[in-house]
Amino acid sequence: LHGLLFADLGERADRVALVDGTSGASLTYAQLAGAVDRLAAALAARGIGKGDVVGLLSPNTPYYAVVFHGILRAGATATTINALYTADEVAHQLADAGAKMLFTVSALLPNAAPGAAKAGVSDVVLLDGAEGYPSLAELLANDHPVPSVEIDPAEDVAVLPYSSGTTGRAKGVMLTHRNLVANIVQCNAMFHVDGSTRVLAVLPFFHIYGMQVLMNNGLQVGATVVTMPRFDLPEFLRVIQDHRTNRVYIAPPIAVALAKHPIVDQYDLSALDGIFSGAAPLDEELADIVAKRLNCRVSQGYGMTEMSPVSHAIPDERDDIPVGTVGLILPSMENRIVDPATGEDVGAGERGELWCRGPNVMKGYLNNPEATAATLDADGWLHTGDVAVIDERGLVTIVDRVKELIKYKGYQVPPAELEAVLLTHPEIADAAVVGVRDAEGEEVPKAFVVRQPRSALDEAGVMEFVASQVAPHKKVRVVEFIEAIPKSAAGKILRKDLRARENA
Ligand code: ATP
Ligand code: MG
Repeated sequence: LHGLLFADLGERADRVALVDGTSGASLTYAQLAGAVDRLAAALAARGIGKGDVVGLLSPNTPYYAVVFHGILRAGATATTINALYTADEVAHQLADAGAKMLFTVSALLPNAAPGAAKAGVSDVVLLDGAEGYPSLAELLANDHPVPSVEIDPAEDVAVLPYSSGTTGRAKGVMLTHRNLVANIVQCNAMFHVDGSTRVLAVLPFFHIYGMQVLMNNGLQVGATVVTMPRFDLPEFLRVIQDHRTNRVYIAPPIAVALAKHPIVDQYDLSALDGIFSGAAPLDEELADIVAKRLNCRVSQGYGMTEMSPVSHAIPDERDDIPVGTVGLILPSMENRIVDPATGEDVGAGERGELWCRGPNVMKGYLNNPEATAATLDADGWLHTGDVAVIDERGLVTIVDRVKELIKYKGYQVPPAELEAVLLTHPEIADAAVVGVRDAEGEEVPKAFVVRQPRSALDEAGVMEFVASQVAPHKKVRVVEFIEAIPKSAAGKILRKDLRARENA
């Protein structure tokens, strides 16, 4: 990966690689490459090298990229940790991954310090500084030799990200150097990002989407990556305006805010020429509202941690592909839509499980041969667990996760479809749908709805609205108004939290 990103800086040496959208602090490509080498040297001097795992727990900052690539440059493996994790979750990931060392920031110490202690990790370094801890700056100030390590790209694990934990406990995913490089190159074939692109990196780098599509793909093409530590709508709009970012990667909750929030019109967003959404279903109608309101192209892709992560995207030059689809399979990949019961392909236009194969597909789950065997078959097909449809042109539409389909009287109802319908209601700010048991024990769709301020919409109004737009078996049969829909840091609806609330 290092060779692909920093070996020959050429004319990009003095260009800004990363800039902190809030403070304005920045790193040029030459500074980034130099710092990566210095960190690799410091890690080698500490005894960290091939086969060792190092944790990285930080919000997005330019120095996130230094630490991430320094770890890989030293030949070690980075395990990137969700900044919202509790101490126990941090401890679980560090212990499961077998980490020897942790990089974090002082603001996260309340969870990071007890987490590291519980996992037996005593070498904790801060990207910023605080009393009692070594800082990244101290590590960078060294004159040790830069290690030269032999990497086997197809075998050596570069990163151990954890899946989002949307459907259960997060799983450690072994991605090799080859997996990462393959997906960066594959993304390049779909996206017009180059040295003139200014990427807004608001999605977290710890998650595979932020790590690969925002950070690594951005750096590989010599773009400028503008970091934000978290999503906050006014600050997000200000950064687009002031930093003139032209390419913005989002997850659907940001699209909801961009479509519905009144303050969006108060900013100059004229720099934007492409918004790209992934990580969860994006509704076509909502995407069209965003495209019109912001006067910019909105497109979509699909992926998962296990595919480093992208397998499908709408290529930038294709104006004829509806944004409700996730586009085409990436180059050097194959896809099938399979009836999971028989393992046979279903016909064009029919629903089945999406299977993918290619150089970006993971080596396997860490410490979990059963889960690996259940997901990755002997022929190299990754069974995604998502229901999809493919048309004659090869365009793929994601229906929902196999496990989330609501089984109503023999029909299969995708909650994502009902959520999309609910979001088109002007008085609904946000919504989520899960299957619940009714008095007869039948599984029925229940909508959790967040109303717009001052809305007087009632349960019957919600049910009638949905009923007017869907087939009778898909009707929402229970409604509950809530304050906010639980979502993960990667922007996914946490339906398991809604179900737990239901059963509590
Ligand atoms: P876990 O596997 O731990 O339960 P997760 O599947 O949410 O969590 P990720 O690897 O972050 O973890 O997410 C991959 C999943 O996200 C896909 O399997 C799919 O369900 C969903 N997804 C990603 N992109 C899209 C998209 N464009 N449309 C619909 N769903 C998507
Ligand atoms: Mg998953």
